[in-house]
Amino acid sequence: MNVHDSEKMSGIFSESGCSQSNDINNADVIVLNTCSIRDKAEQKFYSKLGRLRKIKENRPELKIAVAGCIAQQKGDTLFKNFPYVDFVFGPNNIDNLQNWIKNGAGNLPADKQDLESGVRSTNNRHRTTAVNDNPDYHNKLLPVKREGQVRAWVSIMYGCDNFCAYCVVPYTRGRERSRSIMDIRHELIGLANEGFKEVTLLGQNVNSYGKKLTDDIGFPGLLKALHEVNGIERIRFVTSHPKDLSEKLIETMKELPKLCNHIHLPLQAGSDKVLSLMNRRYTYGEYKEKVNMLKQAIPEIAITTDIIVGFPGEDDGDFKMTLNALKEIQYDGIFAFKYSKRPDTKALDLPDHISEDIKSVRLDKVLKLQEEITFDKNKKLEGKVLEVLVEGVSESNKSRMTGRTGNNKIVNFCGDKDDIGQLVSVRILKARQHSLYGEKA
Ligand code: SAH
Ligand code: SF4
Repeated sequence: MNVHDSEKMSGIFSESGCSQSNDINNADVIVLNTCSIRDKAEQKFYSKLGRLRKIKENRPELKIAVAGCIAQQKGDTLFKNFPYVDFVFGPNNIDNLQNWIKNGAGNLPADKQDLESGVRSTNNRHRTTAVNDNPDYHNKLLPVKREGQVRAWVSIMYGCDNFCAYCVVPYTRGRERSRSIMDIRHELIGLANEGFKEVTLLGQNVNSYGKKLTDDIGFPGLLKALHEVNGIERIRFVTSHPKDLSEKLIETMKELPKLCNHIHLPLQAGSDKVLSLMNRRYTYGEYKEKVNMLKQAIPEIAITTDIIVGFPGEDDGDFKMTLNALKEIQYDGIFAFKYSKRPDTKALDLPDHISEDIKSVRLDKVLKLQEEITFDKNKKLEGKVLEVLVEGVSESNKSRMTGRTGNNKIVNFCGDKDDIGQLVSVRILKARQHSLYGEKA
């Protein structure tokens, strides 16, 4: 999501006649797009911002902007603590970058200022962090400068209403809003015309797409409408909240050939006690039932997940249930994190926070177990012929091409540049931990 937000910012700069500089010592404007999902990301940002102080001292005309979720949460505190920051804008205010550039990266005109709604402009420093819940705002198409030419991200909704006890997203990105089907379709048609072949639909909880729209056709309905866009060959989506994964969606995935056989279905923990403390609103049993339904409907489906270890109150027994879940479900891949305390969230007030040492040991165990599972699963693909959408030249070996299978496995193979953007059949010769190697079949 943040990567796509950065693409929107790049698009605004490009449209305003600016070009990207590869050297921060030469840039006129530096934008740091921030993530506050875990403390580690936040600390990384502060150290980067700290390093910009010297550059600004040497070149006072340089403008520094801070975007994203930390900007949203910290607002004026950033100005106070970092006197060399010029512009602070939240994830719901990306369009304000246009005004800021237009105004020579200085103050906004007085009529655009409204202190009550989160906008402030003084002494050539400007902040805009209003929580913009107006769906019309989100239907505005911002120019986007995309990374790559084959796969594109498309936002279908913004914000989140779920309030998982550990998560900062509902506080930084605001309430859930869906874009209209018409706008999303329009964006896909534009992408197809530009030659893009694959789209990934983005939302914090795509399964609840459309809940507040007047023409409530739901997520399966959106998928059907988008499936008809000629030129787009593959459709993916992230993220699905397990509580909202419906039978109708599973049927739709089975029915529509352009929908990739992959689902990212964050479990977070295997213990019902921990899931309830997390406010996830499903039990492990219910989750597993949905996984079984998915596997029954689409036997070749790849399932990936997110895991949090060391959530407050997670004892050894609870943690073992997470390990058991990994063994039972046999995910194709996972993202695993140590629980990280986040401002404003309910989990801060829970008793029995876990020590960093225990969290590290648990994270290690989870990652080691999953490495074995992933490798075993990859190994089973040796000898098979898989359809790969070719994205470009492999970064690690320039003589190879790289792409992905429908179920999201990275495949490197000997091919040529004409393959880029094509669906190519590749015979898998060797499984690696994070990718597969093969030859054209
Ligand atoms: N909306 C998505 C995920 C958004 S955040 C969903 O509901 O699945 C991506 C992942 O970051 C989450 O799934 C969770 O595993 C992790 N995460 C979020 N907040 C966290 C925190 N405070 N500490 C550790 N991991 C966290
Ligand atoms: Fe965060 Fe939960 Fe919303 Fe995902 S569903 S963004 S984890 S609150």
